Amino acid sequence: RPIIGVLALQGAYDIHAERLTELGASVRLVRRPEQLAGLDGLIIPGGESTTFLKHLERAGFYDALDEFVHTKPTFGTCAGCILLAKDVANPTQRSFGVLDIAVERNAYGRQNDSAILSTETTLPGGPMEMVFIRAPRISRIGEGIEILARRGDDPALVRKGPLLAATFHPELSTDTRVHQLFLDMVHQARS
Ligand code: GLN
Repeated sequence: RPIIGVLALQGAYDIHAERLTELGASVRLVRRPEQLAGLDGLIIPGGESTTFLKHLERAGFYDALDEFVHTKPTFGTCAGCILLAKDVANPTQRSFGVLDIAVERNAYGRQNDSAILSTETTLPGGPMEMVFIRAPRISRIGEGIEILARRGDDPALVRKGPLLAATFHPELSTDTRVHQLFLDMVHQARS
């Protein structure tokens, strides 16, 4: 069984852990940098990316995570997507830059702070529910990045190699396809 870490400093980590457990993975909540050792993959959940950064600046955590995301399968949702992105706007802030996308934080405006949409996806099984909470907008994608779902014209679920990023919160829907996809990516990376 793969061991999947869920960064548990802040934000929506619990339900990610539940989803992964439902799908048969072993889960480790990661609160200290040394807990990254031996993981097969990691989810960086939604929350507040500035708060994540504040926590991470302590005790070498930022650098440990930076190394992890550059070498192991990682799935960033919402704030996690922002942390993986190469360019962050509104305002600009530090990020791991491992995924060649640009994101604009809190980009869908006051009225659209939260939204539940159903959208086409390239994943088998028909349209997918997507829950957005103060979501970022992916405003640019680099070469070789696959778009698996969109919000309007904007990419909302993207993948490249062992990296997956969503601007929404897949853990808040009962649909487990996105978590299953990440587990498939982890299996692929192990074999
Ligand atoms: N607005 C948050 C940020 O900018 C992201 C929101 C979320 O993760 N649901 O970091």
